[in-house]
Amino acid sequence: MLGIRFSALTWTKVFHRPSLTLTGACAVLVVYIGLLMMSNYKHQVALRESTLKRFRLDVEKRAASVGYFFSERKYDLLAIADSREILSYFKNKAQGMSEQYGLKVNLFVIAQMLEKTLADKQIEGESIYERFLLTDQNGRALADTASRNETNLIPPSFREKFPMNQTSTPTIFADEREGKFEILMSWHCKYRNELTGILMVWLNYNTLSKHFIHFSEQSAMKGFSLATTDGRLICTHGRKKCPINNKLLSEHNASLSKDEFSFISFTTPEGERNVFLTRISIRNTPLNLLAWIEKEELFGDLSPWQLLIGTGALALVILVGTGFLIRFNTNHLILKARFEDSEQQQKLLDRQVQERSYELLLTNEELKKEIEQRTKAEAELVKAYNELKGTQAQLVQTAKLASIGELAAGVAHELNQPLMAIRTLVQVLIRSFQKLPSGGLEEHLKTIERNTGRMMNIINHLRIFSRQSSVSYTDVNVNDVINDALLMVNEQLRLRNIEIYKTLGQDRLCCLGNPNQLEQVFLNLITNARDAITSKAETDTNYHGMLEIITRFSADRKYGIEIIFKDNGSGISPENINRLFDPFFTTKEVGKGTGLGLSISYGIIQDHGGSIAVTSTSSEGTTFTICLPEKKDSLKCN
Ligand code: ADP
Repeated sequence: MLGIRFSALTWTKVFHRPSLTLTGACAVLVVYIGLLMMSNYKHQVALRESTLKRFRLDVEKRAASVGYFFSERKYDLLAIADSREILSYFKNKAQGMSEQYGLKVNLFVIAQMLEKTLADKQIEGESIYERFLLTDQNGRALADTASRNETNLIPPSFREKFPMNQTSTPTIFADEREGKFEILMSWHCKYRNELTGILMVWLNYNTLSKHFIHFSEQSAMKGFSLATTDGRLICTHGRKKCPINNKLLSEHNASLSKDEFSFISFTTPEGERNVFLTRISIRNTPLNLLAWIEKEELFGDLSPWQLLIGTGALALVILVGTGFLIRFNTNHLILKARFEDSEQQQKLLDRQVQERSYELLLTNEELKKEIEQRTKAEAELVKAYNELKGTQAQLVQTAKLASIGELAAGVAHELNQPLMAIRTLVQVLIRSFQKLPSGGLEEHLKTIERNTGRMMNIINHLRIFSRQSSVSYTDVNVNDVINDALLMVNEQLRLRNIEIYKTLGQDRLCCLGNPNQLEQVFLNLITNARDAITSKAETDTNYHGMLEIITRFSADRKYGIEIIFKDNGSGISPENINRLFDPFFTTKEVGKGTGLGLSISYGIIQDHGGSIAVTSTSSEGTTFTICLPEKKDSLKCN
């Protein structure tokens, strides 16, 4: 889990101590916001000052423009007053020309000249002047461009000044009459330095305002207006649009004279208004140019201080919000990381489970196959085992028959002995009967009975031994089986001068076994010893063969019953000793040995839960040791 291995976990590490990190981040943020606010405040103040400065420059520019306009008008006035038509009239009048004929013409010409001038003087199709009026020195109208009704409409303030003082420049008057502002200029006419008349001209205030004051588009937050030096406003578009009135103006007159801007706060029907007001006097005129700018235009609704507090509050809100956001985000990231981790683990687990179940499926299949194979193999083994058992049984039987065959000679000899005795005794009896009474009759009959009993015993034993019996186990006294086996071979051993030393244990040496099979084993060991001794005797004439048979419990009874067959025969060579129990291994001549005796004996002892071991040296002979488990608490053994 990476990339956002600068990922959720990395975040988790970063925010391992979230409170410390958060405090540090907040402190940095507070300092940063503080600096930002200070800089913003300074910037606002500078902006305000520069805006005011620019506004003031703009107002100065407009005032200069208006001043220029008035100076041009003065030249117009001077030119008209010095015109040939007017000079001609006052000259003719001074020379006494009749008013009826001569002067009337002069006045007509003057009127035409004034009309023409009025029409000619325009700025972009708008007339500069509204009216020309020429009066005599007493104010009686001589020529007037206005209609008759207006002839006498001279502003009262202006009329008061008649006869006018001679001034070096044209005089400018501004007054309000019947709700309308009038701006007029006057200049005197002279003949031979005598005041002869007054020339008056009314300016078209709208043209002045449009082209010299409001010549460029203005925002609604700014305004300009002319005012007289004695404090009367000449509003451009009527009083309604002008936020300042004469009263406010007079109230702030002092501060306006002192500072460039005066801050005026007042209430209007529309609401509270806050304006910065400035005033610039128009050169060589009794007029001022007033200008105001709304406070909002400078820096919106708020002052820099208000702005500062507002920004501070906003910063605080942002700060707290950011804090919460970071905390929330941190928690969210940690949760996300955990969620992603658990999701991945879940996936891993799912994959493992899938793989495991697939493996299990495979293993299951394999196990099934293996079980099938094993069951099959087991069945085959059982079959083979049964076959082997059968073969073994057959082998045992074969071996038995072989040993019977081998014993036959011995048995014949064994039986021959008692038969000879019986025959001799019967002959003695016959003779005895002929010479009756004889005292030895009873003795002879007893001998006959003993010999026939012995014969029956041997024959019975042979019958039992040769019979193929089903293997059944019973409590067996090992000493009895040894005696039975010796009964079969006693005579043979005697004939070969083999001495037998029997050391049979006095205890009840009892085991669970088949007496027939055990006898076969013992017989096999005795006959093998017999052969080894016979073989040695053939090479050594001074040799005297011996077979020792010992039965006993093992030293600590741990290995049960020990049966030892120890001979001093030819012994076994080291290269043969390991092959002794192999089936068909024999060193005997063809027809004499089968090589099955020991392998069958080995199998029988194994079946009885015992063991058989051999030690041998060619000089001392051979010792076979059989161990059989003891059958304790047997009632049958005696
Ligand atoms: P067989 O007696 O028919 O040869 P066995 O399996 O009984 O078969 O014996 C195998 C071989 O073991 C014998 O041929 C013999 O060489 C050797 N053998 C067995 N017992 C003795 C013994 N007591 N002394 C020397 N050799 C022995």
